[in-house]
Amino acid sequence: MPLKALKRASEIFAEATGELTVSFDFYMEAETLPVVRVGCSGLLPLKCQRCLGIFQQSLSLTFTLGMIKHTAEVKQLTSEYDPFILTSEFITPAEIIEDEIILNIPVVPKHEPNHPSCINLPTEDDIISDKAGDNPFDILKKLHIGDA
Ligand SMILES: [Zn+2]
Repeated sequence: MPLKALKRASEIFAEATGELTVSFDFYMEAETLPVVRVGCSGLLPLKCQRCLGIFQQSLSLTFTLGMIKHTAEVKQLTSEYDPFILTSEFITPAEIIEDEIILNIPVVPKHEPNHPSCINLPTEDDIISDKAGDNPFDILKKLHIGDA
């Protein structure tokens, strides 16, 4: 499945190029509850909030959704099923997996610690201490030496 099929999630991606491998296994639980077991893996292009570079975060998810028609039915689901509320008769594969993918994207995406291509941008503290090194009193000291 192309990443750009995930309309809401693709707003989070740094670029909407790439593919996910997705499998769906539909069955009926206790002859009443439609269930879909989903496997989903691939690389998500995310923007690192430390260096603003794009990196690929690997994703590997399996989850089981219980298809229900109304939020009131959520409490009938056992804990092994995540609820998926059917809002229309026609749902796309992207709609089925999108929420779970969004939940698995870090709020502040970052490279792994000490990643070689993750260059720390100078923080505000670094900029202030650089200016402090350029001490105007150094010039005054030199003037005094000249006077003596
Ligand atoms: Zn980074």
